Amino acid sequence: MAILKSSTARCRTFFNPKLNGHTTQRRQITISGSMILLLAILLNGCASTGEPKPEPLKLYVFDCGNIKVADVSLFSPGFDEGQEKELTNSCYLIRHPEGDMVWDTGLNDAIGPKGLELWDGAFHLSVTNPLGKQLKALQIKPEEIDYLGISHFHMDHTGNANLFTNASLLIQKEEYDAAFGKKADKYGFQPETYSQVNREKINVLNSDHDVFGDGKVIIKRAIGHTPGHQALYIDLEDEGPIMLSGDLYHFTKNRTFRRVPSFNYDKAQTQQSMDSVEIFMRNKGAKMWIQHDKEQNESIRRAPYAYQ
Ligand SMILES: [Zn+2]
Repeated sequence: MAILKSSTARCRTFFNPKLNGHTTQRRQITISGSMILLLAILLNGCASTGEPKPEPLKLYVFDCGNIKVADVSLFSPGFDEGQEKELTNSCYLIRHPEGDMVWDTGLNDAIGPKGLELWDGAFHLSVTNPLGKQLKALQIKPEEIDYLGISHFHMDHTGNANLFTNASLLIQKEEYDAAFGKKADKYGFQPETYSQVNREKINVLNSDHDVFGDGKVIIKRAIGHTPGHQALYIDLEDEGPIMLSGDLYHFTKNRTFRRVPSFNYDKAQTQQSMDSVEIFMRNKGAKMWIQHDKEQNESIRRAPYAYQ
């Protein structure tokens, strides 16, 4: 990949007067026959080295479980009391020319289609499409994933984290302290769901993080839902820029009315994060995909389809 890149850069530099420093001399150059010949040779060289164009950035969306909520006002205190709501649970694979990244790992595959109840029946969780199987269908080995981004460490996002044993975990410092400290359960985390992540490769963050250094995949610090919650920005060539919400919002209505679930770690921080993410999105012209929003996800195509 490095060889590929340097050769591409060479061709790009030659044909870009700003990059090769000849901008001011350009007008003085008279094109002679021999120069045309030289140009033809170079053009041919760049075109015929058999350089494959780097693969475009791709985004795959996986179904990572279903969540039935007995009383949706848990997510919007004072509103829609006693109403049931179904949430979907999404995970994602980002294929960048420089590596593969998984964003959120869903409910644990072992929960299965019959599922289980949580919080005295407040939630019913189920999994009909195991993430392991969905990755296998794409011929992807979890142990070969390079980066693991988890929006936050609630168990509906860390469920299958143990599959990705060689990935570099990208995590905000506050989330790291909570998840890997002695009182993880106090934050509603389940350490057994992420006990196998590679402790040697953890990258602890204090801010936004440009994963591949080209501005295409950026972790957005968006704290408040949990101590170190984060969202993910992806700039796709055809589909355009997308923000994956994490749990900054659980469904569209909460985004519209800026409502904060009763169980969030810090309400004021959450609303500050909503503001900063919305401003960032406006500047980038990005749309938001709300990971738990069942209705919105019905119009989003799942793997093996790849957004580009
Ligand atoms: Zn969630």
